[in-house]
Amino acid sequence: MSDSPRGDDCIFCRIVAGDIPSRKVYEDESVYAFQDAHPKAKVHVLVVPRNHYANVAELAKAEPQTLAHIVEVAQSIADEEFNGAYRLIFNSGEDAGQSVFHVHAHVLTGEVLPE
Ligand code: 5GP
Repeated sequence: MSDSPRGDDCIFCRIVAGDIPSRKVYEDESVYAFQDAHPKAKVHVLVVPRNHYANVAELAKAEPQTLAHIVEVAQSIADEEFNGAYRLIFNSGEDAGQSVFHVHAHVLTGEVLPE
């Protein structure tokens, strides 16, 4: 795991722990999925590992099976919401738009997405 803020200092750690309310979409032993507070598509879900990693590269190194599982969860959300079509985004680094340093997949679906 990384040196990025975690536990009480990480907003997504607090959401996973249930300390901050969220609109849960799915959970299991390794991931937690919830609606984004500022949706950028009709359906905008964030899928996060329960364990704290700053970015997708750290997750891939430490828990590749969890990264693969996040893709499966994204697919199953899209299967339910929009015929299996979705966009999967990991912003990595502040200059790429990452604002929360607990790795999260943005799953955008539920409508035809702009190019
Ligand atoms: P990033 O910019 O790091 O790729 O994405 C962070 C995302 O987290 C943004 O889309 C933002 O709307 C969402 N977000 C930030 N804080 C909260 C929160 O407290 N609750 C929820 N549900 N989403 C949040």
